[in-house]
This record gives sequence, structure tokens and C-alpha cells, in this order.
Amino acid sequence: MHATLAALEPCSLDPQDWAELRQQGHRMLDDMLDYIAHIRQRPVWQPIPDAVRGAFSEPLPQHAISLSDAHHRFMTQVLPYAGGNAHPAFMGWVQGGGTPVGMLAEMLAAGLNANLGGRDQMPLEVERQIGLWMRELFGFPASANGLFVTGSSTANLLGVLVARTHALGVASRTSGVAGQGAQLVAYAASSAHSCITKAMEISGLGTQALRTVPVDALGQMDVAALAALIAADRAAGLQPFFVAASAGTVNTGAIDPLAQVADLAEREQLWFHVDGALGALAVLSPAQAPKFKGIERADSLALDFHKWGQVPYDAGYFLVRNGADQLDTFATPAAYLARHTRGLAAGSPWPCDFGPDLSRGFRALKTWFTFMCHGTEQLGAVVDHCCALAQHLKTLVLATPELELMAPVALNVVCFRYRGEHPNDLNNEIVVRLHESGLAVPSASTIDGHVVIRAAIVNHRTQAQDIAVLLATTLALGWQLSAPTPQ
Ligand SMILES: *Cc1c(COP(=O)(O)O)cnc(C)c1O
Repeated sequence: MHATLAALEPCSLDPQDWAELRQQGHRMLDDMLDYIAHIRQRPVWQPIPDAVRGAFSEPLPQHAISLSDAHHRFMTQVLPYAGGNAHPAFMGWVQGGGTPVGMLAEMLAAGLNANLGGRDQMPLEVERQIGLWMRELFGFPASANGLFVTGSSTANLLGVLVARTHALGVASRTSGVAGQGAQLVAYAASSAHSCITKAMEISGLGTQALRTVPVDALGQMDVAALAALIAADRAAGLQPFFVAASAGTVNTGAIDPLAQVADLAEREQLWFHVDGALGALAVLSPAQAPKFKGIERADSLALDFHKWGQVPYDAGYFLVRNGADQLDTFATPAAYLARHTRGLAAGSPWPCDFGPDLSRGFRALKTWFTFMCHGTEQLGAVVDHCCALAQHLKTLVLATPELELMAPVALNVVCFRYRGEHPNDLNNEIVVRLHESGLAVPSASTIDGHVVIRAAIVNHRTQAQDIAVLLATTLALGWQLSAPTPQ
């Protein structure tokens, strides 16, 4: 009896002293604002000391430590050893830098702790607002529907899944892929992101059902070769159903000929999916938008607000031309998700009807704040600035005899290498030493078997001085590594 009463004592995790928490909270906020404001003074990245890494393999904590102690550990053991993508000299892979506005919005979202799986709540209207904006931005019809997801890896997977259900019919949700007796075939260029391959694996279609379309000298999908592959598959009795084009390939930023792929997909009745993770948001710039002609004809589109949209991680987005296709793929009539026309259970259909997730965070809020507080004008200007920096870097590379440009620069990605003996080993080593220098972070990639130094300029903080440091350090390292070793 006593035990039962004791168990009924309040057990809230809220602080006992709100004033103290408030003070600590303000310190944490100030620390992060300081971090962003002075990020240029930090190394982009630094190796993690063993002791720091080791501090995070301790057993499950039974007893509490104070918030200020936990914060201290964050400041000393986590923050200094982050990946560095907020830094202006970070140009590796394709990573956005985030903004203070996005950070503050994320704090509000966490405070509200909204679950955006469904129900009649204003946070869902914020997400629907983003959907309207994306419809407008990409010229999609009123039937279109969007959904926040973790990133474009998931958005591309959803593209394959919706196209699969569209091709096989809703009955395939019961029978499974094999049960429909059709052998579906998908197409993507050799330059497509690896997540398309993963999507084929996860969807149960298998990578055997994915054809690799060659690219031309500009790194763009060869549409004539695509047509030939489709014809050969049809002749073999297979069912072509899906083509993924890239609006900015991950390796070089090349843009597939979207309008031509759209024409072919229409003629052949294929689902036309666009992977716009890297480049789609370049349409925010009126100067860049014409390069993406044809994107408005996509049946589905994957994009990442957390890359060129400058929204903090994670904020991927999946836009479908016909929202009904999405419902056909994902809506389920579970009793515990019963809908009403009034009360909190109204507002159907819900996001959980449009994708695999039930519980979902409020990714829309940081995206809404970013668009509201910067407008398409500022966001588009950042896109232009990144492209201008890429052209600047390209010009410098072409003007430097020790360096070699390794791919055309269509957008914001520059691939180059230092000339020398064993160039693959040399350039891999240059990239590693650049990372270790903390001065600039490009990534290494491979083009036609050649290791390249790849700079993807995505961050609104990046300036010409960062490009200069990248080049100067690359040249110094290249020279040092190529010099004959003293006996
Ligand atoms: C980044 C990227 C992806 C993967 O997106 P995530 O958001 O990292 O999951 C897919 N395709 C391209 C072209 C990309 O640049």
C-alpha cells in the first residue's frame, strides 16, 4: 500500500528551479550563437583525440548529472570535433551550413514537441504551406503533394516505391512484388547517387532490375542510350517502369537533360523521377532556373532543404505530381488512427498516409522560418554566389599549371587534381592532409578511375578567401608531397 502511494508521487522531469534552468538555457543559447558567429576562427575539422572518443563508451548512467555539467561535456568533447559543415571552408561531399534562424526555429520546434504524423493541428498547416510553396516553385499542379523526410536518400526510395505501386497496381501491396508476375525495370545514369541502387534493393526489385545509362562528355545522361536500353528490355518481355534523372549529379553537379528525359518517359509511359538533392533548389535563383527546364514535368522529385536550402539537418523533401499515387502506396486504415471530421482527429488525410512514418518531427518549422526570414531573394542570391565561387575556382584551376580541371562545372561543384606521378595516391593524400590541416575540407572522389579533389560549394558563408586558402594549401601540399624525398 505504501509502495503504491509512493509510486503516485509526482515524477516530472521538469526542473525544480526554473530560474536556474532559464539561466543555464541562456548560456547554452549564447554558446551556440558564439560558435556560429566566430566559426571562421576555428579549424574546419580536427582529429578526435582518443581520450575524447573514449569518454563516450561509458556504461548507462544510473544517476543524474547537472545540465550544466552535461553542457560542459558537449562544449569540450562534442562541439570541437564536429564534422565542420557549418564552416565556410567546408566544401566536402554536399553539405549545407545551416543558419542561426534555422537553429532558433529548431529550438522552438523541440519546445513544442509536435508530432506531425497527423491530426488537426496548426503545425501540419505549416508543413502544408511548404507543400504549396514547393508546388509553386517547381511548377507542379494542384494535385501535387509533398512530405518532409530525413533526406533525399529516403525521398528517392519513396519515389521508387510510389512508382512501383503505380506500375503494379494497389493489389501489389497484398501480393508483394513477385505476386504481380511483372518484371519491372528501372533506369538511372552511371552518375546517379548510390541511394538509387539502395532504393532498388530495399524495394525488393533488386539491383538486377536497374539499368545503368551512360553519360556524355558533359556528364549528362545519354537519352538515346536510355531509349535503346528501354527498347531492348521491352523486346526481352520486361516492363520498364521508372527513370531517375539527376538535377545536379552528386559527383560533378551535371544536370541531366530533364526535358528530353521527360519526353521519352512520356512516350514510354515511364515514371519520371528527378533526384534534385544537390541542385533542385538552384531554381530559387532566376539565373540558374532555366538550366532545370523539364523538372516541372517530373512525376516525383527528391530535394534537400538541408543542402542548398541552408536549413539545419535534417530536412529532406519528397514531392509527388499526383498525391493520390502516394496515398495508394502508403495509406493504411488502422483502427487507432481513425479519423473524424471534428476534434483533434480531423484533418485527414494525414502525413502518415503519404509515407512510411507515423510519428514525425516538425521539420517544416525550421524550413518555414528559413523561407520567411530570408525570402527566395536571399536564398537565390546564395545559390548564385556559390555558382560564381565555383566558376572562380575553375578559372584559378585552369590558370594554374600544377592543377588540372577534371570535369565541366555546370553548377557549384569543381573537380580538379594536382598533376604528378601516381596522381591517385597523391591526390588522396592531399585531401587527407587538407582535412588534417583544418584549413579547408574538400572531399576526394573518382571520375573515370581518376582520383579528384572535389569542392562542392553549398555554404552561404563561403567566400573567395576560402577558395584562395583551399588552392594555396593544395598547391603547398602537392609541391611538398611531389618533392624528391631527401636521403
Ligand atoms: C546528397 C544527395 C543524395 C542523398 O541525400 P541525403 O539527404 O544525404 O539522404 C542523393 N542524391 C544526390 C544527388 C545528393 O547530392
